[in-house]
Amino acid sequence: MTKILHRTIGTKLPTAVTGQGIYITDSEGRSYIDGSGGAAVSCLGHNHPEVLDAMKAQMGRISYAHTSFFTTDIAERLAEQLVALAPKGLDYVYLVSGGSEAVEAALKLARQYFVEIGQPQRRHIIARRQSYHGNTIGALATGGNAWRREQFKPILPETHHVSPCYAYRDMQEGESLEAYAERLAAELEAKVIELGADKVMAFVAEPVVGATLGAVGPVADYFARVRKICDKYGILLILDEVMCGMGRTGTIFAVEQEGIVPDLVTIAKGLGGGYQPIGAVMLSNKIYRAFADGSGLFQHGHTYIGHPIAAAAASRVIEILTRPEMMANVVKMGERLQAGLDATLGQSPYVGDIRGRGLFRGIEIVADKDTKQPFDPARKINSRIKMEAMHRGLMCYPMRGTIDGIHGDHVLLAPPYIIRPDQIDLIVERLGDAIRAAVAN
Ligand code: PMP
Repeated sequence: MTKILHRTIGTKLPTAVTGQGIYITDSEGRSYIDGSGGAAVSCLGHNHPEVLDAMKAQMGRISYAHTSFFTTDIAERLAEQLVALAPKGLDYVYLVSGGSEAVEAALKLARQYFVEIGQPQRRHIIARRQSYHGNTIGALATGGNAWRREQFKPILPETHHVSPCYAYRDMQEGESLEAYAERLAAELEAKVIELGADKVMAFVAEPVVGATLGAVGPVADYFARVRKICDKYGILLILDEVMCGMGRTGTIFAVEQEGIVPDLVTIAKGLGGGYQPIGAVMLSNKIYRAFADGSGLFQHGHTYIGHPIAAAAASRVIEILTRPEMMANVVKMGERLQAGLDATLGQSPYVGDIRGRGLFRGIEIVADKDTKQPFDPARKINSRIKMEAMHRGLMCYPMRGTIDGIHGDHVLLAPPYIIRPDQIDLIVERLGDAIRAAVAN
């Protein structure tokens, strides 16, 4: 009997024994295509020799040095790599151990920034409904996923939510993309004014939504409009790229495709590629200066920030994923994945939408394609798809979404960037079979 408190108690999980490239093999000898990179983590696949070498080399130097005493060459190098890759203006890096920690740090950076510049009244966080930004208390409060928040609501700090940019469900009939983007921007502005323009601290959003909707990108100019509102009212824009960042959408930062620069951006998952737990917040020079010229102290910190082995893994992961052939493969294989899914599932009466960017693709399952009515949650379609896919040797990431009380079933695909065309075709074939089997019974 297991002594681990597994997330789903009582479900017998296979035991993962080895990982190689895009495959994980379990103790019974079955192998699975890692079609979701775990949860969009394993961007280089498993057992990458160059990443292992970098970690081993670092272990032979120093494995840990507390950041109140030392910095390390490897952490400094990682920060330089990130700054060189980030949208212009994001000049500093705060290293953490994962996605939720990155979001917490970004929120605290935002709050202390306003204290440093003499605007301590700014305290409101606005985020979007149906979003996920992590499971720690502050990050959970920021997220707008009703199901995840429900039982913890009484202990969550107050936050505010506006509509996500979710054209498939929320665009009105006859509405242009431009009018839709404008409507969402107007809703955000109205919320700012309602809360008091000088009391809002930050707006938080994922450029391409991962964990709650399945690869939903923004419509054109949505983020340009959001940026304008944040600038108009002096609000910080925090973009959460924990899932969609580090090349997942075909550019190193997903926001590069939006033509704007946020004040803070969070990254994790693909940053360490699963080799080490690591995340980061990147911050603008403006924020850095407020701290440097103000108290000179960011009042925050965790024991493992800037961990040398994690930094070594991330530094090598970045080196590999910035090779030109890598992003080219993400784009090319992403197009093949989309085309394959369209051909196999596009006509299915139970597939409402197939979407995404790069190797970040989502499928929305519906009971009725015309009305977009989701399945009864009691049928647990998303869990069934996961199970049917595992039986067929495929890992895909199923999601339960609720938006304004409406349940939804989504499947996320986020395979490693090293994937080949024949392997993409296998994912499509296995997922198609799994979805057909899941909705059939
Ligand atoms: N933000 C986003 C957008 C995420 O997808 C996740 C994880 N799914 C997190 C934050 C939290 O990251 P972690 O699980 O590493 O704490």
